[in-house]
Formats: sequence, C-alpha cells, structure tokens
Amino acid sequence: MRTAYIKPDSLSRVFALLLLVSLFAAISVSAQTSALPSRSADLFLFNAHVVTMNEKQPLAQAVAIHGGRIVWVGDSDEGKKLYSSTHTMDLHGATVLPGLIDAHGHLINLGESLVRLNLKDIPTEKEIVERAKQRAGSASPGEWIVGWGWDEGKWASNYPTNQALSAATPNNPVFLVGLHTFAAWANRRALEIAGVNKDAKDPENGKILRDEKTGEPTGILLNHAQELVSRHIPSMTLAQAKHAMQLAAHECVRNGLTSVHEAKVTPLMVQAFHELVREGRMPLRVYAMLDGADKNLVEEWLKRGPEIDSHHQLTIRSFKLFADGALGSRGAALLEPYSDAPQTKGVTTTPEADVYNLTRRALQGGFQVCTHAIGDAANRSVLNAYERAIQDIHDARPLFLWRLRIEHAQVLAPEDIPRFAKLGIIASMQPTHATSDMPWAEKRVGPERIKGAYAWRSVKDSGAHMPLSSDFPGETLNPFYGTYAAITRQDPQGNPLGGWHPEQKLTLEEALRGYTVEAAYAEFEEKDKGSIEKGKLADLTVIAQDITKIPAPEILSIHVIKTLVGGNVVYDAATDH
Ligand SMILES: [Zn+2]
Repeated sequence: MRTAYIKPDSLSRVFALLLLVSLFAAISVSAQTSALPSRSADLFLFNAHVVTMNEKQPLAQAVAIHGGRIVWVGDSDEGKKLYSSTHTMDLHGATVLPGLIDAHGHLINLGESLVRLNLKDIPTEKEIVERAKQRAGSASPGEWIVGWGWDEGKWASNYPTNQALSAATPNNPVFLVGLHTFAAWANRRALEIAGVNKDAKDPENGKILRDEKTGEPTGILLNHAQELVSRHIPSMTLAQAKHAMQLAAHECVRNGLTSVHEAKVTPLMVQAFHELVREGRMPLRVYAMLDGADKNLVEEWLKRGPEIDSHHQLTIRSFKLFADGALGSRGAALLEPYSDAPQTKGVTTTPEADVYNLTRRALQGGFQVCTHAIGDAANRSVLNAYERAIQDIHDARPLFLWRLRIEHAQVLAPEDIPRFAKLGIIASMQPTHATSDMPWAEKRVGPERIKGAYAWRSVKDSGAHMPLSSDFPGETLNPFYGTYAAITRQDPQGNPLGGWHPEQKLTLEEALRGYTVEAAYAEFEEKDKGSIEKGKLADLTVIAQDITKIPAPEILSIHVIKTLVGGNVVYDAATDH
C-alpha cells in the first residue's frame, strides 16, 4: 500500500517529469519534420508518366504547382512526403506533356465555324432545309442564317434550287457555303437583299446559276459570284466576336492546347481578347500577330509599342504579312512557272520592298514579323527582305533576338534552306498541310521542286528553329493529328504506305518539341513555357495514352483527360463534354 501512496509533492514531481518527457518528444518530432518539412503548394499531381521535354530531367512521375507555376518535379513517393498537406490529384498512370502550343491558328475563324450552321455530312437537300428552318425558328426576323459544309463537289451534277429553302425560311436571309467554299446556296431573301435577280450580271471569275426557262437565279452562286451576297452579311459585333472566340478557346483546351498564336488579329479581335482576358473568360494563352495589311493598325501599334503581358495571357508583339497566296489555287509565288500551268508563276501579294520596310520599322519598335510565304519565290523574297532589315537596323545585338518568322515556308529552293538558321529566322510549319496537299502538290511543282516542299527534315537539319502548328480551322486543331502527320507523312488512313517523301519525316521527339519548346521559342516564351520544369508556368496536357509507346496510328485517337493552364484545370474530360 505504501508504494501505492504518492504524496502530493511527489505527484507534482511526476507531473514535472511527464512535462519534461513530452517536451523532449515535441522537440524531437519537430527536429524530424525540419529534416523533411511539408512544403506548401496549391496542387500536387502524382502517379503520372511525365514527359517533361527538359533534357536534364526527361521523365518524372509527379509535379507540384504553386501560384500558377511549377515548383517541383520528381517521383511520386518523394513528392508525397514533401507535399503531404497539399491538395492532390492521382493521375492513375496517365501521361503528362508540357501544355501544347499551336504556333499558327485562327481562333476567330474557328469560332465562326462553330457558330454557323454546320451542314457537313448532311446527305440530302431536305435535311439541310430542315436545319435551316430550325435555326430560323430561333433567330429574329431579318437575322442572317449562315451555314457551311454541304458538298458542292458531290452535288455538282444536281445542284439544289432556292425554292424549298426559301419556303422554309421566308423571314430570314440564308447563305449556305459549300464544303470547299467554291459555291454557295442562297435563299430568296438573301438574293433580294443582294439585288441578285434576272438582270444581275455574272462577276469576273464567278457564275450565277439560272433557271433555263425564266432566267431567274436558282440560288446557287459559283466562285466569285458568292461575294455578291456574302458582302451583305453584317460583320461581327464585339459581342459576337467574343462569343466566337470563347467557343474556339474552349475547343482548343478540349484538344489539349494551352496556348495559341493567333495568325491575324484585327482591331475588333484585339478588343475582344482584351475584354475576355479582363473578364477572366479566356482559358487559353494567346500570342497575337497584328494584321500587317491594316495600315492604321500598324501605325497605331508602332507608336504605342508591344504589349507584353506579365501574366502571359495575351501578348501582342508581332505583325502578320502575306507574301503570296496558296499552292492549291496556284496563288503561291514560284521562281519558275507552275508545272501544271506553264503560263503562271503565281501571285506576289506584298512586294519585297514593303516586307523590308515594315520589318525594319517593326524591329526598331520591338516587334516581331511573321510573314506567310508558300512558294519558293515568296520565301526567297521574304528571306531577302528580312536579311536586309536586320543588316540595316545597325544593331549589334545577336541575331537570335529578332526571331523573324516565315509562316508555312512551304516550297523552298534548296539554296535558301540554310538561310533560316544563318539569319536566325524561324520556319513555322504545319505537318497536316503536307498530308492534305500530297494528292496534288507534286502536280503543281513537279518532281524536282517537290524535294524542297514541306521539307521538315531538311529545315530541321539545317539548324533552324521549327515550331509546329495546324493553321486551324483550315485543318483540324487536334495537335495529335499534326504529330501523327509529322512522324508518318501519311493521311489518317495510313496512305501512302511508308509515307509521302518519307525522308522528310520528323521523330516523335522532334514533333513534340515543335508543339512545346520550339513554339514557346517562337513567341519569346522559352523561359516560361514549353517544358515541365521548376519555375515555368504550370501549363500541362494530360492524356490517357502513352504517346511515347503506342504505334503511330493510335496517336490519332489520343484522349485528352485534362488541360491545365497556370495550374488551373481549364478542361476536364470527366465533367466537360
Ligand atoms: Zn493561317
């Protein structure tokens, strides 16, 4: 019993001892945690196959994000200890790529295509009339109904007339453009507004189809005759432009894109972008090329200087010029005549002197210039203009600072290829252009010049920077279609076997660099974008398949699970369709 009895003063001694013990325990616990302190982050992604595009650490399993930036890259177990208190996201083995960048696209046109009535793959006139009727039902009287996508090639032997269409849509002008934009189908209201009647004359390079007996227009307008009506369609309002761009931006993040270089920006688009960013409604980062053909816009921006966004949401620091047209319609400017049209060498749309003048002024004002050049003559003329502008600004700064760009660089004379790397000029190229154009491209330029066409391998090996892009909506914006085209030079059906001019294929690594590191370089953002490494913006594309392991055709069906921009999930396949 004695031993069981503890006097009050010895009780207090026991308490003091207990207190001491617990104090030591607390100290030792804190010593342990200071060896492995729990770090704070906004989000910790783990259990992933992270393809970083960072040569120093090519692969990882986990990424920690804080304040919109990547703060740590490593393996899942280590990361879990470091970021034990952080909001986590288990990616269940999915592949994570640096946020993909499309270095040349047109959000506004993509948006327009999403707003207008989509008639692609609708097989009969009756069904198209029904769609137009439905759309008119929700439109206000007089509002234009614009559609696109009926197949003017397939229907050429038996074009529809405006009778059924006009009866179904009496109160709205309707204008339905064909799949390849060579023909349009208008209703009576649209023809009336445009003054296209019995007495209207065919324009140059255009034809108004007419009823054989009455001479009245049938509603089908070919080539330039379409403009008789299309010029009466009111141009977009600011609200419509914003709506279209938002739809397009959503389509981009849905396809895994985190940044887009917008390849021609009008004053209305500048305003729309600014407002969308300010309102927090632009999920995508945009690098804008101002329309260099708009003299007022050019002068305004040369005066005010580039707008470089410290938040990397919207940067405006380049001008877009057009040196020529397209190869398909023989508008591309060639050094020698077209192989299948010996009477023409194509068309130069901006003379060399004008490209030189704008480039010199742009460089002095801190702007980049991006010039569309398809034919070998156009490419040579732009290279000449750029070379002279760089020399004439008498600036001793290294060449790589200017980063002048040629958009497409599609047909190059062999002796011009090394000039890109030598002058620090960026060749901004589109893999799917090759696979779309391959059925007819060689007819246009012949067997010799085709060797310098869509010549990615030659351009890459010359040491030039080569960002990749789609030029959407002319081509699909899906960057995995571009990746597939870059590494196979085949169409999605696998034709031709072995690839078209397979010696110009890129490797998967090179193609992915084109959509990440190289595209970031082309917009002066290589310090902030293009790879998954500490300090960079937390722009990530999460895909279900391991792109580094699957056979090429499976790249076409890669499924985007999530898209993150600045650490925010801007697209989640689980909740957003
Ligand atoms: Zn374009």
